[in-house]
Amino acid sequence: MKKIIIIGGGIAGLSAGIFARKNGFESEILEKNRRLGGECTGWDRQGYHIDGCIHWLVGTKTGTPIHDLWITVGALDGVEIFNPESFLAFEHDGVTVHFYRDLDRLKSSWLELSPEDKGAIEDFCQAIKRLQSYEIPVEKPEDLMTLMQRIRLMISLKDAGMVMKKYGKVSLKDYASTFKHPALKAALASFLPESYSASFIFFALAAFTRGQASIPYGGSRALAMRMVERYLSLGGTIEAPCEAIDLNIDHKKISQVICHNGKIFEANYVIAACDAHVLYERLLKGKYSDHDFQKRYSNPADYPLASQILVTLGYEGTADNLPRSLSFPVTPFEIHQSPIDRLTITHYGHEPAFAPEGHTLITCAINQFHEDYDAWDALAQDSDAYYQEKERIANAVHQAIETHFPLMKGKLKVLDVATPKTYERYCNAYRGAFMPFLPTVQGKMMTHTGRIKDLDNLFLTGQWLQPPGGLPVAVVAGKDTIMRICKQEKKPFISC
Ligand SMILES: Cc1cc2nc3c(=O)[nH]c(=O)nc-3n(C[C@H](O)[C@H](O)[C@H](O)COP(=O)(O)OP(=O)(O)OC[C@H]3O[C@@H](n4cnc5c(N)ncnc54)[C@H](O)[C@@H]3O)c2cc1C
Repeated sequence: MKKIIIIGGGIAGLSAGIFARKNGFESEILEKNRRLGGECTGWDRQGYHIDGCIHWLVGTKTGTPIHDLWITVGALDGVEIFNPESFLAFEHDGVTVHFYRDLDRLKSSWLELSPEDKGAIEDFCQAIKRLQSYEIPVEKPEDLMTLMQRIRLMISLKDAGMVMKKYGKVSLKDYASTFKHPALKAALASFLPESYSASFIFFALAAFTRGQASIPYGGSRALAMRMVERYLSLGGTIEAPCEAIDLNIDHKKISQVICHNGKIFEANYVIAACDAHVLYERLLKGKYSDHDFQKRYSNPADYPLASQILVTLGYEGTADNLPRSLSFPVTPFEIHQSPIDRLTITHYGHEPAFAPEGHTLITCAINQFHEDYDAWDALAQDSDAYYQEKERIANAVHQAIETHFPLMKGKLKVLDVATPKTYERYCNAYRGAFMPFLPTVQGKMMTHTGRIKDLDNLFLTGQWLQPPGGLPVAVVAGKDTIMRICKQEKKPFISC
């Protein structure tokens, strides 16, 4: 039996491992952390469980190809789905804009707020409706398709193509300015930084409003653990903690994977299911760099990466009367000399087990970009300064929430603060990024096969292969990599 070594036990590595076993390969996952799941994780603090990942999982709608894939890898087997009423509620100057799941409700609430935006609102809802038929292509990657299959794919993506054509090169800022009401303008512009493509918002809301992007009960860590169980039940093996630090290369092949704990692994194939930058720069030492990735790494203006600060609080009370995610203005405070004048909080009232009885977990995520990462990186050189800054931000967030919700006064406590350096340390995530290069107006989208030029038995997989990344891309990419290996082995691929 041929053997595959998989470096990284995140969702892509687990997906690759599961399909490797289903297709008759010996499989061993090497994971740097004790626990598998990668960025799809959660952690426990002071009686609370902090969910560190899933705000929405594309693939929660039964009967769709991506849902079937989640079932095949064990992630959603027998799991109840929580369908939040709204994606986001956005407070602005005394009014609240709701991004409701029910598109008719969204439309009527927006029309009521701003009748003069009728045309823009109708166009907005029409584009979302049009995209509701969009399915993430799951069956096979484009490079393995026949010409006919590619044509069929293009036809199936017709509606997505039209939305991309209309909005792909329109910045979020410009799109938001087509609305007249200041609250609608502000709500739309708040989704992502202004240079990002407006198309993102349509794909996100189309998936959400058709029930395809909801939240599995139990959270992110539980989802990853179900995949681990599926992998182990199929006979896969795991070495953890075990960080790959070097690759020996012999005649265009990886002959050995060298690990931090001194162990050496040999296999017929090696799949790098870790961060792409770790593969190209640390493991391959820059000797096999890839033009497409290099172009993006060296141009952060057109290819920005997003990370975040995550402040988590425990609330002695219930938050049933609050929207699940709420964005509200605050008295400005600074982070790295940039003013923070609004916060978005999310509560986990739907998961009573995430908090002691009668309490609720609340998270507050603050987006961080290129310069922010540099500032955190510099700060982290001095651990006292780093911890003081985390504490200062946590206190500012704590105070801002108490000011906005006087009923919460004295009932909140800070549980944890994660920064871009946390994601970098935990998952080796490049610059702490939790998604790959997102579509901007200037940047071109990249899809990558994961093949490494001049190396025959090494494949990159994971969310970096395709925008916008995230969990669905990771699970599809892991499967696709095994399809490519089956093709190389000239054997049929078994998908279920
Ligand atoms: C805060 C946050 C919120 C998110 N929210 C969502 C969401 O709501 N919906 C969504 O779809 N996606 C979300 N994502 C993104 C999603 O988590 C990722 O897209 C997905 O988990 C990536 O999976 P992956 O397997 O490609 O990579 P990773 O999860 O990064 O897995 C890579 C694994 O490789 C390991 N590794 C790295 N280097 C080595 C090495 N040298 N040797 C051994 N092991 C190594 C890492 O420890 C890790 O376990 C979020 C991410 C974060 C951080």
